[in-house]
Amino acid sequence: MHGARLGLAAAPRRDKKPADERGAKMPILVMKFGGTSVATLDRIRRAAKRVGREVANGYDVIVIVSAMSGETNKLVEFVGETGQFYDAREYDAVVSSGENVTAGLMALTLQEMDVPARSWQGWQVPLKTNSAHSAARIEEIPPENILAKFGEGMKVAVVAGFQGISPEGRITTLGRGGSDTTAVAFAAAFGAERCDIYTDVDGVYTTDPRISDKARKLDRIAFEEMLELASLGAKVLQTRSVELAMRYKVKLRVLSSFGELDDAAGTLVCDEDDIMESNVVAGVAYSRDEAKMTLISVADRPGIAAAIFGPLAEAGVNVDMIVQNISEEGRTDMTFSCPTDQVARAEKAMQAAKDSGEINFHDLVADTDVCKVSVVGIGMRSHAGVASQMFAALSAEGINIKVITTSEIKISVLIDRKYLELAVQALHDSFGLESAV
Ligand code: ADP
Ligand code: ASP
Ligand code: MG
Repeated sequence: MHGARLGLAAAPRRDKKPADERGAKMPILVMKFGGTSVATLDRIRRAAKRVGREVANGYDVIVIVSAMSGETNKLVEFVGETGQFYDAREYDAVVSSGENVTAGLMALTLQEMDVPARSWQGWQVPLKTNSAHSAARIEEIPPENILAKFGEGMKVAVVAGFQGISPEGRITTLGRGGSDTTAVAFAAAFGAERCDIYTDVDGVYTTDPRISDKARKLDRIAFEEMLELASLGAKVLQTRSVELAMRYKVKLRVLSSFGELDDAAGTLVCDEDDIMESNVVAGVAYSRDEAKMTLISVADRPGIAAAIFGPLAEAGVNVDMIVQNISEEGRTDMTFSCPTDQVARAEKAMQAAKDSGEINFHDLVADTDVCKVSVVGIGMRSHAGVASQMFAALSAEGINIKVITTSEIKISVLIDRKYLELAVQALHDSFGLESAV
């Protein structure tokens, strides 16, 4: 997202303009409800009650809804069944539609509760994006239309998450999990007091609570840690939403829509400085969506990495980890990882590079039976020994590490997928994440 064009800078949260100068009478709150929180009419009613309570507290509310859980997957499958090489514009037209249903149903439910509400599809706002179908980036959210309605007495704008409109006037979507990003972008564009992400867990945990029953809920987590956890697979927030919240200083909370109405503690995603004490490792993330590709016997010469990774980048393959193996008689094996659904694209690009004589290799072996497990923590900046502790914990369980990458605040390893749960639990134990410092 580009700051200036974004239009999100129109009313950043720090700019404490009085609400009536913005055209609205009340402070604004953004509340996002994920798929499980709107999975049935009964759950929509429960979510609407929470919204009604915030209206009673004096807020004008922007509600962002996901599609009912399972709905987007179903739509993606329908598209896949039409053929292998479908038009990305029509993919977006289809998969965005789940959110239209829940937005209308939420508005109707609120109206039934005598809360003045109206639904908005992305194009009606309009939420303007670029043209990168299925992974579009938000460019601008002009607040005028919705603010004018708030000015006329509407109390809740229910916006279909995940969708926008391209400069060509086509419907776009923001990538899976994109409603989180819709929510944060609205909070930034409208200078909302807070952005509350209601989901099926009561906050951000030290690891996915579905994998480890020892996972502990964090009261606070730093933006940078959340960003790493999200990008390494913790799907509780879409990565882009965390980036936006960090950049536009959005006060971001993750909480459950299933608890008692007053049970709203959740997790606050905040600046590092706002956290008093934290463990060296904040959390463990995993991703099943990894494949390990090995080019067998490529020439070990200057320029070989560029000759391999240039064509992969051009083909849109998101290479994550890279290892070059020991060279023997001027030849070496090059291993890299990429998302599983990009394996075919990577193979095609490498074959084309071989055919054109840019590179030469004996074979390309794809291993899709792997997963990536990562530990993340700002404390790693000042603590040595996290990597060795991680490797020791995995080795104690007999888990072989295939590829390793590190950055300032994270260490990731690629391992056999059958060890995923075991690895996550072993690392959670080893770094003592069950209890706070
Ligand atoms: P929604 O439909 O509300 O957007 P998601 O399924 O996208 O919900 O995200 C919530 C899920 O994220 C949880 O059910 C949980 O299994 C998973 N998750 C993964 N890692 C974490 C973590 N560290 N903390 C909390 N939840 C996590
Ligand atoms: N419904 C979309 C998805 O399942 C967007 C979202 O829920 O955030 O990916
Ligand atoms: Mg989600």
